[in-house]
Amino acid sequence: PTSAVLPASAAPPRLADAHGRVLRKLRVSLTDACQYRCFYCMPEHATFSRPETLLRPDEYHAICGELVARGIEELRITGGEPTVRPEFRAIVTLLAQLPARLALTSNGQLLERHLEFLKDVGCTRLNISVDSLDPGRFGRITHGGDLRTVLGCIDRAAALGFRLKVNAVVFRGINDDELGDFARWSAATGIEVRFLEYMKIGPEHARTFERFVAADEMIAALRTQSGFDLRPVAVPHDSTSFVFDTPEGARLGFIASESKPFCGACSRLRLSATGVLRACLMREDGLSLRGVAPDAYDGILPRVLALKPTGRLHHVDQAMHEIGG
Ligand code: SAM
Ligand code: SF4
Repeated sequence: PTSAVLPASAAPPRLADAHGRVLRKLRVSLTDACQYRCFYCMPEHATFSRPETLLRPDEYHAICGELVARGIEELRITGGEPTVRPEFRAIVTLLAQLPARLALTSNGQLLERHLEFLKDVGCTRLNISVDSLDPGRFGRITHGGDLRTVLGCIDRAAALGFRLKVNAVVFRGINDDELGDFARWSAATGIEVRFLEYMKIGPEHARTFERFVAADEMIAALRTQSGFDLRPVAVPHDSTSFVFDTPEGARLGFIASESKPFCGACSRLRLSATGVLRACLMREDGLSLRGVAPDAYDGILPRVLALKPTGRLHHVDQAMHEIGG
């Protein structure tokens, strides 16, 4: 068989593919739209799906409910920028009722107003993207982001007890001189910073991929810039990052999707804002779960899992904001 929904004794059935990879995590995109235009993610004149084509809150609840019943343990809400979706709270409220861990990835610009709500519904794991700690650079990378607002949101979230991680994509000649600053910020705040390799995703990568920096080079630069001693930290087997801490109190992760792909341990599926379930960030194809009857899932899911590549695909032209990063 190419893939299967494996029955397990007491626990919910596990979604697993033919290569033994168990699918436990779902990235749920609320929209392909965003108020930023990060140069590597979103073209200046991007067009977005019409609102009426997006999944309604009840559709998210139904689809994610079926997937959770088949073994998905974590729902990570993402986009585009999830907080620009007018039905953000309605969708999060319904997803929070499912028996799964709820997490959110956001650019942090419009997030602070939702923090109390997120805490109330139990969505306490936040990843916030901050590609530069310099306000001018941050504005140029994002085309409109305000660093003070984002750092203010992070401070407030930390005070409210959220589990926070900050994501920074590292680019040669743009922010690769800030690795030490991020490390010192992590030591000062106690918040983990994860440095991401620039992935060959979207229409922009062909033009700007000379900016790519591999994780090994980041680590060397980070040591030089900070003088910190990096000590490896154990992470779960399907973690996308490898992590270090330092005697100064910093916690620093690296997501080396290009130089050290983790496809063999990948446990992720992605649901687009229009209802397409994808088995891999690097593949544009998937199958729609919109309007699918509950008893048809066991027929469709193996076909989606069969689309999961065993090794790293070279590039994908569809942008991350469209797929659901
Ligand atoms: N708007 C939210 C945000 O920025 O956190 C959520 C969606 S965004 C697509 C999720 C993450 O993907 C961000 O951390 C962003 O920096 C990252 N990203 C987008 N395109 C990327 C690329 N080509 N390579 C690596 N990371 C990328
Ligand atoms: Fe928006 Fe996130 Fe893409 Fe930046 S990385 S344009 S914040 S979706």
